[in-house]
Amino acid sequence: MQIGCHVSISGSIDKAVDNAVERECSAFQIFTRNPRGWHAKELSEEDIKNFKDKLKASKIDQFATCAHMPYLPNLSSPKPDGFEKSVKSLVEEVERCGKLGIPYLVTHLGSHLGTGEEEGIKRLVKALTTAGQVKNDVMILLENTAGQKNSVGSDFKQLGEIFKQLKPAKKFGVCLDTCHAFVSGYDLRTEKGVKDTFKEFEKHVGMENLKILHLNDAKGEIGCNLDRHYHIGLGNIGEEGMTAVIKLISKKKIPIVLETPIDDTRDDFENVRIVKELV
Ligand code: ZN
Ligand code: MN
Ligand code: MN
Repeated sequence: MQIGCHVSISGSIDKAVDNAVERECSAFQIFTRNPRGWHAKELSEEDIKNFKDKLKASKIDQFATCAHMPYLPNLSSPKPDGFEKSVKSLVEEVERCGKLGIPYLVTHLGSHLGTGEEEGIKRLVKALTTAGQVKNDVMILLENTAGQKNSVGSDFKQLGEIFKQLKPAKKFGVCLDTCHAFVSGYDLRTEKGVKDTFKEFEKHVGMENLKILHLNDAKGEIGCNLDRHYHIGLGNIGEEGMTAVIKLISKKKIPIVLETPIDDTRDDFENVRIVKELV
């Protein structure tokens, strides 16, 4: 089983590897830069070397690492300058991942801001196709969304339709977030629910395209579209559902990454440990 959590790069990017090792992770996710701004300071040769050296020494499989896009870009944006900035940022992140040797970049699909799904998806496909031209081995992973108003890509059918339009195909994959799927209406509370949900995913997207699993329990109820992650087993998905997901995914050797909160109830050290205990 490859399992870990999102870790901070605070201080320097190689600290992410220390943080992952400390938490006994065999997989992890980072932001390659401050996720709250548009600007990304360029990676120095030293940053890159330190990150790669530490990763090698850590024994964490390079293919169990991923980066997540910053928060501001909106790849479905109808605003021309917002759209352009978003595409530029996606291209930049694909390049940064390439330099760091990170094979996967997870991205949200954005919001059409009321202009309709069809238009939003057209822009999204254009944005992704542009970034797909970057010549390196980084794969862009489309993450299913929580189904918030105006968002694109919460149901697997639509996700699959978007995915199939992307070229070159080898540059694209999918990241499934369990919290987002649950709050968009996929019942992951029981073994049967999990089996049916993944059957639906297989039908529209294909398991072979699933490269990273975001394992998060949900604070909200099924179908509420609320993007609030919760501690593994303590949310509305619960222990039975989480366990069934972990078993199914680890059998397929897909890296599991937690994006759970850190609060008085639990921290990420504990959530990682609990996932290991559930199997
Ligand atoms: Zn995400
Ligand atoms: Mn996620
Ligand atoms: Mn989320």
